[in-house]
Amino acid sequence: MDADSPLPGGRDKPAVVRRHRKFAFVLAALGLATETYAVASRGYGLGGNVIVRCREGHLFTTIWIPGVSVKSLRFAWTRLQHCPIGRHLSLVTPVPTYELTEEEQETARRHHDIRLP
Ligand SMILES: [Zn+2]
Repeated sequence: MDADSPLPGGRDKPAVVRRHRKFAFVLAALGLATETYAVASRGYGLGGNVIVRCREGHLFTTIWIPGVSVKSLRFAWTRLQHCPIGRHLSLVTPVPTYELTEEEQETARRHHDIRLP
């Protein structure tokens, strides 16, 4: 059903309400596109394991699927989630693999948070 089709009792909805719904949809789509680009441009595929860094510099692996998250609050390419190394809540961002040494990647792969997106 498209947003402009009349709903039962909704036919007389003011145009401003319909515009707000479209605006919210466009914002959500833009957010998803930004997040997808941010993860893809850091060398990761979609919907896979991504190495992230928390605010205190801990590296760990998490499952990052753009637009989907159960265990974190999302802000585009930053998420608020639990860090399994420091055992604290922190903003985490995906780290491009080319910025990490082999050793850092290995360490990050050994530390995986819960396996939920
Ligand atoms: Zn941490």
